[in-house]
Amino acid sequence: MGEDVRSVIIVGSGPAGYTAGLYAARALLEPLMFAGYMSGGQLMLTSDVENFPGYPQGVEGPAMMIHMREQAERFGLEVQDKNVERVDLSERPFRVWVEGDEFRADSLIICTGAEAIWLGAEGEDEQKGRGISTCATCDGAFFRDEEIIVIGGGDSAMEEATFLTRFASKVTIIHRRDVFRASKVMYERASKHPKIDILTFRQVKKWLANQDGLTGAILEDPRDGSVEEISCSGAFIAIGHKPITDFLEGQLETDEEGYIIHSSNTMASVPGVFAAGDVVDKRYRQAITAAGMGCQAAIDAERWLEDQH
Ligand code: NAP
Repeated sequence: MGEDVRSVIIVGSGPAGYTAGLYAARALLEPLMFAGYMSGGQLMLTSDVENFPGYPQGVEGPAMMIHMREQAERFGLEVQDKNVERVDLSERPFRVWVEGDEFRADSLIICTGAEAIWLGAEGEDEQKGRGISTCATCDGAFFRDEEIIVIGGGDSAMEEATFLTRFASKVTIIHRRDVFRASKVMYERASKHPKIDILTFRQVKKWLANQDGLTGAILEDPRDGSVEEISCSGAFIAIGHKPITDFLEGQLETDEEGYIIHSSNTMASVPGVFAAGDVVDKRYRQAITAAGMGCQAAIDAERWLEDQH
């Protein structure tokens, strides 16, 4: 057993988790957070954040996460950079297993976010980390003066493509249709960039490689099945995310895509378990909305704990 029963354990550490931690700490609930080995969530993989209010010049994603963590820790949030492996929500106190230790808590706030989806095209597994990536901020610098493709038509694809122009000689965005989910401002920034080309109605059918790594891809037109080859030494997949809920082993109600469902305010299907951020939200998925929901979850947890006494 790790220690006595905590009032609140927070699982996950993006904007939702740190904001929940800040509010729970200020409510004197002495929260414990398991931030994960890769603490900070997806913002750690983001370059400039230009749409979080309060930063007129923008802010680097990792810097913002460090600030959020420091702010919550100042009020007493205890953070361990470890992954939660398993939980038991069948009775209270809830049980949480972390690297062989067992922790117990009267309430949980789940803020584990979401992770990038891979395409699953032929040859992909062999080239992961050898030319194919889902994180431009992490791997972009490996492709100086090389040709890169970015798959997707959302904000992530536009952001990654624009970021990659810092390194690449040319970036081609490959999208499966000619309608873009990306916001207008991000689409225009990418489409007007002299180093960026956009190819619509194309899907990756197969990755091409030699012993040195990726050399290109076979693209298919979904309208008529015609194929063509594109050469590139780097490819970045930016086609969306899936929620991180495996450790819950189906103990909370989710929708068909695995996003946790709120039953009342931010409470999940098990009373005393709350959820916030991208693990719940497939509509907005913004740092600011995740932070707002983390605040709501902490307030809901505090009120629920009070009602139990
Ligand atoms: P998204 O908006 O869901 O876009 C995913 C894109 O990938 C879509 O264009 C989709 O095509 C395409 N796609 C999905 N599955 C595919 C497949 N199997 N093969 C080929 N293409 C596929 O995801 P996102 O771009 O990651 O953005 C998610 C959220 O984060 C959004 O709310 C976005 O605003 C936000 N975000 C914001 C910023 C920012 O403001 N700085 C940056 C990044 C992300 P279809 O359109 O044909 O389905």
